[in-house]
Amino acid sequence: MTTVICPICKGQKFGKFSNRPSAKCLTCGSLERGRVIYMVLVKLGIPRAEDRILHFAPEKCFIDLFTKSHAEKYQAFDLFPERYKNSKTTVRRFDICEDLNSMPSDEWDFILHNHVLEHLFCSVKDVLHGLARILKPEGTMVFTIPIHKRQKTIENLDPFLSEIERKKTFGQKDHVRLFGYDVMYTIKESLGVNCFIPVTSLFEEEEFVKAGIPWQPENEPNGKSIFLYKKSGKF
Ligand SMILES: [Zn+2]
Repeated sequence: MTTVICPICKGQKFGKFSNRPSAKCLTCGSLERGRVIYMVLVKLGIPRAEDRILHFAPEKCFIDLFTKSHAEKYQAFDLFPERYKNSKTTVRRFDICEDLNSMPSDEWDFILHNHVLEHLFCSVKDVLHGLARILKPEGTMVFTIPIHKRQKTIENLDPFLSEIERKKTFGQKDHVRLFGYDVMYTIKESLGVNCFIPVTSLFEEEEFVKAGIPWQPENEPNGKSIFLYKKSGKF
């Protein structure tokens, strides 16, 4: 049997997360999608040492990594910074729906956000467009979103919808939408290109098994699928 080793921290102990046995690395806290992202970044050589990095809803494993590698060139933002009390960097409060418009254009080399868009009480298209705007030309944005086995995305931006209703409809009390396959068009329309990277174009099954990540290329697009956008010129 293959020994499973976390590619991020080299830990070998894994635990259950959300009914998925061995989903979480017990050393660095990474989930499968975090490990996929890490492997993609290593494979593609991003971010470069000189890059300015912007990270939304930052996972602990990446905070630790980028704080070490990029120090003050790394900025982490979240709507609820109080959740990151013992973090190695200062996570600043940022409301993507409200604050993105006031950010200068062409500022960041690398933007990372995982499972953020399903939480936002504003237009996914506008947000993706705004994020592309603040990327430097030739900058890269990498993101993942939960995509469900359904054709159409459903959403409800009513601020008064109860958490119980949200959980019932969208699967989590703080989700405002459930992405279906049509989100692929939304992303393409927002960014002007199809930035979905099929897992088979970058990895072999063995690399996933070794990193404790289920290999399910036939189930893509899904919550671990990589979207990578490279900005060419002005946006
Ligand atoms: Zn780990």
